[in-house]
Amino acid sequence: MNDAQFPIPGESDDQRALREGVRAVASRFGDDYWLDRDEDGRFPFEFHRAMADAGWLGITMPEEYGGAGLGVTEAAIMMHEVASHGGGMAAASTVHINLFGPHPIVVKGTPEQKARWVPRLIAGEDQCCFGFTEPDAGLNTTRIKTFAQKVDGGYIVHGQKVWTSTAQIANKIMLLTRTTKYDDCKKPTDGITIFYTDLDRTKIEVRKIPKMGRKAVDSNAIFIDGLFIPDADRIGEEGKGFSYILHSLNPERVLIAAEAIAIGQDALRRATKYARERVVFDRPIGQNQGIQHPLAERWMYLESAWLMTMRAAQLYDTGQNCGAEANSAKFLGARAGHDACWQAIATLGGFGYAKEYHVERLFREVSVTRLAPITEQLILCFIAEKVLDLPKSY
Ligand SMILES: Cc1cc2nc3c(=O)[nH]c(=O)nc-3n(C[C@H](O)[C@H](O)[C@H](O)COP(=O)(O)OP(=O)(O)OC[C@H]3O[C@@H](n4cnc5c(N)ncnc54)[C@H](O)[C@@H]3O)c2cc1C
Repeated sequence: MNDAQFPIPGESDDQRALREGVRAVASRFGDDYWLDRDEDGRFPFEFHRAMADAGWLGITMPEEYGGAGLGVTEAAIMMHEVASHGGGMAAASTVHINLFGPHPIVVKGTPEQKARWVPRLIAGEDQCCFGFTEPDAGLNTTRIKTFAQKVDGGYIVHGQKVWTSTAQIANKIMLLTRTTKYDDCKKPTDGITIFYTDLDRTKIEVRKIPKMGRKAVDSNAIFIDGLFIPDADRIGEEGKGFSYILHSLNPERVLIAAEAIAIGQDALRRATKYARERVVFDRPIGQNQGIQHPLAERWMYLESAWLMTMRAAQLYDTGQNCGAEANSAKFLGARAGHDACWQAIATLGGFGYAKEYHVERLFREVSVTRLAPITEQLILCFIAEKVLDLPKSY
């Protein structure tokens, strides 16, 4: 279980220093802490506070508002490290949401809005959730129905969202709404407006969804009934919100890839350690090729997914088109992470199924990366259409 086993190719001295800084915080929260959160489902407040106090929540935020102004490459390295210490997606999601989710504020917010919102996010004083997905629209985001009706001084919102993560503890919500009905728009992407506002629990009912993994970071169905949002909380122009969320999609895919790879590598470290130590039929199980080869293969897939992740990050950070690479990184990273976690369970045999060895939890943690924020099928559709020039299928 050491890093030399999985060297990180091509990291600069600064990036290595960043990784070590994150490790100094993340490694203080070990398996017992994360197993307890998996049992009790309590949000990892201590971890969130420790990361905020060390200044990591602002890594990608502009320096003028107290952030570090670094790129996706550094954010991916940070999230890779965060997810490497047994906390899986519970650890990652606790901080990840702050990195690129609020990007529409950074890109389209007014100076007044940025000054009002960004420093509080960096300090961990505000916790933001994202209300994008709707039960009837699914992946077809332009079909959302949550409607913001213009009134004097603001908007009144009615609607429903699903899977809104951290809404149990968040005090802020970034909300995707329609301000013009789908049927009245020239283009499906028109008429969508984005807000960042207080999560007013007198107007928003939040119901937790029991789920497979990442128990400590809640996801919810939310019901919005007559929420007033002042004009001052609208991001950018009315009706242009769809284009604003596109800014954060590729970075988010890169971060998810990094997290999934880290979880897979964490599981692989545990599996190889076990395979060296566990003796059956008078030999370590790791001496059997039936155990070795699948582990060696998982290592190769994880490493190649990491290279794609770094490639996508580098393209993004140098202002180049990275849609194909970011989607590929997310697909490959999630698959490689998932397969490595399963192989770890198979390597430990019956004990792989026991909570005290943690690999079953890592398997549950990593699974969501194949489904969210976009599914594998939709990534394949994107590559087929945009890279291979095949007809659009959705
Ligand atoms: C743990 C968790 C946390 C989440 N957190 C958030 C959050 O904080 N905020 C938020 O807004 N959302 C969140 N989500 C929602 C997530 O982004 C969606 O679940 C995801 O985008 C998939 O949407 P869906 O479940 O509605 O799938 P659907 O759109 O219902 O699709 C169902 C299946 O059909 C496939 N499919 C659909 N159409 C096609 C097609 N044309 N071709 C091929 N296959 C197709 C899909 O790939 C998928 O496998 C979260 C989800 C989970 C599980």
